[in-house]
Amino acid sequence: MSTKRYVVVGGGISGLSACYALRAKHPAAEIVLLEAQNRMGGVIQTDRHGGYVLEGGPDSILRRKPEAVQLAQAVGLNPIGTNPGARGAYIYQRGRFFDIPPGVQSGIPTDVWALIQSGLLSWSGKARASFDFFLPRITQPDEDIALGRFLRYRFGDEVVERLAAPMLSGIYAGDIDQMSMEATFPHFKELEQTYRSIVQGARRTRPPASPGAGPRPSLFATFAGGLQSYIDALTASLEDVDLRVNTPVIEVVPAQAGLAEVVTGSETFVADGVVIAVPAYQAAILLYRTARMVANVVGAVSYANLAVIGAVYDGSSEVPSDKTGFLVPRNEGLRMTACTYVSSKWHYPDVPAGTVLRAYYGRAGEDVLTLGEQDLTALYVKEMHQVLPRLGMPAYLKVFRQPQAIPQYQVGHLRKMGAAIQQLRTDCPHVALAGSYVDGVGIPDCVRRAYAAVDQLG
Ligand SMILES: Cc1cc2nc3c(=O)[nH]c(=O)nc-3n(C[C@H](O)[C@H](O)[C@H](O)COP(=O)(O)OP(=O)(O)OC[C@H]3O[C@@H](n4cnc5c(N)ncnc54)[C@H](O)[C@@H]3O)c2cc1C
Repeated sequence: MSTKRYVVVGGGISGLSACYALRAKHPAAEIVLLEAQNRMGGVIQTDRHGGYVLEGGPDSILRRKPEAVQLAQAVGLNPIGTNPGARGAYIYQRGRFFDIPPGVQSGIPTDVWALIQSGLLSWSGKARASFDFFLPRITQPDEDIALGRFLRYRFGDEVVERLAAPMLSGIYAGDIDQMSMEATFPHFKELEQTYRSIVQGARRTRPPASPGAGPRPSLFATFAGGLQSYIDALTASLEDVDLRVNTPVIEVVPAQAGLAEVVTGSETFVADGVVIAVPAYQAAILLYRTARMVANVVGAVSYANLAVIGAVYDGSSEVPSDKTGFLVPRNEGLRMTACTYVSSKWHYPDVPAGTVLRAYYGRAGEDVLTLGEQDLTALYVKEMHQVLPRLGMPAYLKVFRQPQAIPQYQVGHLRKMGAAIQQLRTDCPHVALAGSYVDGVGIPDCVRRAYAAVDQLG
């Protein structure tokens, strides 16, 4: 082959970012992206029924990790922030809404006085939370620990179940008692190692308020039209990449002279380099013959099944405009794990008036996708009526089923994945892994990982 050829497998944000990086690095190369489904985007999808923006997957990009927003700007998009008038979410508990006490950072209370005044915890729960000030360290510099074990030790079960678990495990749809702290919230370990008390450490490392500097910039971004517009702009920017949908890859095998073969049902692509950007259980299948040890490690990553329900309500509603939604702890009698007040959180340009909500279903250990679409709809209507009784019936409702959507980072995840990547580098240097299961679930992590995979190919 005179012209170099690169193949990317999977057309989610990881695969599309890999194509973008490949094109920048190898302007003259032939680049092919093979996607199994009939559309690009993977779990990112936006329903625009009636002009509303209903996200079926992610709804926001964390700005603090700049890669994803920088990529969006490079393909011509202007990020929009959350509505500055809506700050924070409620916790729905014992049939009531509680404010998250001021000073809570990443599920951790840092303002003891605010915690004492909050009705969220019992007196004994508040007293137990204060143990953090004098307990010795539980983390070891070279060991991972379950996030739940760490937080239960430092703050007690009530802080975990009523505050930290709904806020933190919601992001990963995971079980806080199984989740790797190193892979999800490594900052907590750093705080404990440096300051011993997490509360003291969080206070000392809090960035100083800058008086007179105007409103705080939004931590999160999206785009007019929702995150599907990110996928659309990225896809459009790859005009000289051969983007193929309905093309599932069956396996990736080594070929002569350091090349790789990417095999689909009807064609075999010989490539100088391959980025595999599919979920872990698919990557394991593709690599089974080629890199058995890597396939075994990657194939052992479990996933959570989720459902997201978007709903539009006509006219005025019971939904406050100064909150972004509510979180539901386990054992509150609801299967809903959280609800976003979309029309309060985001002021998307050019959307019709009306109240838009989005509810999340799916917790570790509960398979919500055993329910069909009608049962999920009925469950949503019943539970939303229980929580917001005066809301009425939605004028439009959309169920998004997200099977095996979020990888579960269990204790030791990063070390196992690091070893697998190293092994693949040695055994098949022409193949690299990207995707949300490797070392970060969020969109910026996926973009960063995709760039690293392209770099690894040389
Ligand atoms: C409900 C939900 C809410 C989320 N919220 C947020 C959020 O607000 N902010 C945030 O940053 N992150 C969020 N995330 C996480 C983030 O969206 C994902 O981690 C990220 O989009 C995953 O992208 P990906 O490309 O790695 O994987 P995917 O999106 O899963 O894409 C993989 C692609 O590979 C294709 N594929 C699979 N097998 C093959 C094969 N054999 N051959 C060819 N193609 C194949 C699939 O069809 C798919 O298109 C959320 C995720 C979910 C599910």
